[in-house]
Amino acid sequence: MAHKITLIPGDGTGPEITEVAAKVVEATGVKIDWEIAHAGIDIMEKEGTPLPQSTLDSIAKNKVALKGPITTPIGTGFRSVNVAIRKELDLYSCLRPCKTYAGVKSKYNNIDLVVVRENTEDLYAGVEYPEDSEESKKIIEISKNKIREHSAISIKPISEFGTERIIRFAFDYAVKHSRRKVTAVAKANIMKCTDGLFFRTAQKVAKEYEGKIEYEERLIDNMCMQLVQKPELYDVIALPNLYGDILSDLCAGLVGGLGVAPGANFGNDIAVFEAVHGSAPKYKGQNKVNPTAVILSAKLMLEHIGEGGAAFRLEKAVSSVIAEKKRVTYDLGGVAGTREMGQAIIEKLKQ
Ligand code: NAD
Repeated sequence: MAHKITLIPGDGTGPEITEVAAKVVEATGVKIDWEIAHAGIDIMEKEGTPLPQSTLDSIAKNKVALKGPITTPIGTGFRSVNVAIRKELDLYSCLRPCKTYAGVKSKYNNIDLVVVRENTEDLYAGVEYPEDSEESKKIIEISKNKIREHSAISIKPISEFGTERIIRFAFDYAVKHSRRKVTAVAKANIMKCTDGLFFRTAQKVAKEYEGKIEYEERLIDNMCMQLVQKPELYDVIALPNLYGDILSDLCAGLVGGLGVAPGANFGNDIAVFEAVHGSAPKYKGQNKVNPTAVILSAKLMLEHIGEGGAAFRLEKAVSSVIAEKKRVTYDLGGVAGTREMGQAIIEKLKQ
């Protein structure tokens, strides 16, 4: 039976790369019944909203979506559709595997890290008060003048509930994918309440996996240096939202950049797969950008729907096209277009 999956083309270069990714997935032989659902700037003009309810309903019904990037215009009041999708569907876990592929220019070899970022709490919760607002004045008063007068204030909530589910996700991922270790990362020596709770909760969850998966902790500043100097020491890395956002870009940089960095957002029973990169609007319609990141996101999707064999063959085809360097896009040193690189991957899959 075909898997019913929501396909969101997105905007900017999103439609070009998702079209190629869908064709590549079909070439693995896995039967997919795509349900196309729109979000982003283009649909905003037609429907008056960048995120129609029908799109959210489609993801909620099918439980799995492959999504193209979506632009967040600055200064228009148009909120980030990407953040809204994660919030509306409680996709609390952001997964970003970072792996080196032969042929992608990078200062490092043999990197195979997985970053697991909490998606709903922390300084990204959106609880902010401008300078001189009633709320910030009250907080300054409660702080007993630890906060300077006229400060703007952002609140950093970290809960046991939110931490427990992200750490459990990291351990379950490690078990399922035969990983050896989970490293929890925070700054608990300074933020004893919030980051302290993150570590204490992680230690509690880690006990349940004792003997199966190793557990360790690092401070975020030290972790940045360690990853640049000794990335091979790490495996699955679990972090609160803000540190996770920054560290996942650092890890994408270790493996050669955005063109090859896949991602996924998981809730309890819904998963949305998307590249780490954005809509690269300056290249829209030019058949120019690299489809690899969204194709590798589709590989994660195939694993998730129980098509591990197809996922394995897909990754092998992508890595051999990249390694040959003959039909790759500009960012990988080639002259192929988006569609030509996709076609090269399809031909590999059929060999
Ligand atoms: P971007 O990732 O779109 O592009 C930055 C640069 O990286 C591009 O100009 C291009 O040189 C390169 N690049 C990106 N993807 C590439 C690819 N597949 N192949 C080759 N080169 C590639 O980042 P940005 O310019 O900061 O953001 C553009 C828009 O995308 C913004 O509105 C932003 O909010 C949005 N965005 C969306 C998502 C998402 O949908 N999840 C993620 C990040 C940014």
